[in-house]
Amino acid sequence: MIALPEHQIPGVYHRKIGDIVVTAISDGYLVMDRVMTRNLPDGELTPALSAQFRDELVFSVNSFLIRSKDRVALIDTGSGDYLGPTAGHVEANLAAAGVSPAEVDTVLLTHMHPDHSAGLTDMGTGDLRFPNAELVVHEAEPRHWFDDAQMARASDLYKHLHFRMTREQVTPYLDRMRTFREGEVLPGVTAVPLPGHTPGHTGYLVESGGEALLIWGDVIHIPEVQFARPEITMVPDLDPDAAVASRRRILDMAAQDGLLVTGMHLHYPGFGNVSVENGVFRHHPEAWRQKW
Ligand SMILES: [Zn+2]
Repeated sequence: MIALPEHQIPGVYHRKIGDIVVTAISDGYLVMDRVMTRNLPDGELTPALSAQFRDELVFSVNSFLIRSKDRVALIDTGSGDYLGPTAGHVEANLAAAGVSPAEVDTVLLTHMHPDHSAGLTDMGTGDLRFPNAELVVHEAEPRHWFDDAQMARASDLYKHLHFRMTREQVTPYLDRMRTFREGEVLPGVTAVPLPGHTPGHTGYLVESGGEALLIWGDVIHIPEVQFARPEITMVPDLDPDAAVASRRRILDMAAQDGLLVTGMHLHYPGFGNVSVENGVFRHHPEAWRQKW
């Protein structure tokens, strides 16, 4: 009898940028409710997905480990225990990559939403999952999510999933949190503010040895739709117009500069390039490389 596999292989993929090794660490995936889009007319999402052989809306949830000679930094922590069994696998995949959470010296966040920052603290024990890490984030994120007046304006769902989640996950790190507005946040890693999805939503540009990679956070949630139609926004976008402006600006930059990009919701591992033809952006995923 041949034993057939019951589980997927680990979600770990390395990409070298000069002397820095960036490892895509999968948190898993989410199958999303179709009403997550704000301005895509009813009836247009399903045909747009079907035309690309997708029968449901599936998002990857990705984190990225940045390793250089003397640093181990993690960009985003995945969703911890907040978003169900298809996600929350950052810790297991870090272990598969041979990295213990105690080795991570810096956690950078693109923003404070549950699929990015809910892996900070184990709510069962209250323990910090990254006990030796400094938490680094744009100053507008804690300012927004710890603001009671902003919380009062949110829906019940987002009061719970966004505000309470952020407060319970981030509070244990407040004495080791460093905030920024822009600029270099670690050697070889520069913050690129991309406001709109959230006030402090930030991408990180990794540069070493003449090579560069932009890890752009949530610039794109639905690759099948938003490359071709960057004006499509998502229900959780706090400032949809600013989100569209940030998306257009960074897609233009990626296309004009031939910049390698990846993101938290591009299909895992997400590394690839962007082109533009007649004003329409396209994503070109990079080929898998077993060796570099
Ligand atoms: Zn997200």
